[in-house]
Amino acid sequence: MFYSDTEKKQIKKQNRLIANWKKSKRPKKKKKHKAKKYENLSYNQLIKLPEWKKRRNQILIRDNYTCQNCGQKIHLEVHHITYRYKYPWLSPNEDLIILCEICHAKIHNIT
Ligand SMILES: [Zn+2]
Ligand SMILES: [Zn+2]
Repeated sequence: MFYSDTEKKQIKKQNRLIANWKKSKRPKKKKKHKAKKYENLSYNQLIKLPEWKKRRNQILIRDNYTCQNCGQKIHLEVHHITYRYKYPWLSPNEDLIILCEICHAKIHNIT
């Protein structure tokens, strides 16, 4: 089968398009780990992030929006039983507990 010059040009163009398309399909280099962006933040800054707010809400729902020490339903805070994890939202459920402001302060004064 013979191609005319214009047909050859067209085939070339198509091949180039396919090559470009294949290139764009190639996976891009891995982005740097997301956690990097938190590296320089203080604990007080970390607990203002949506990541923590989401986690906090999950614990509030689990504990029925109630202080697990005295049963009060206002001024609630999430207490970390341990601080084993680098970022507060990484703590597992059993490491987090809902306490009211007063009970929370008490716990921190005792320990
Ligand atoms: Zn309480
Ligand atoms: Zn605490």
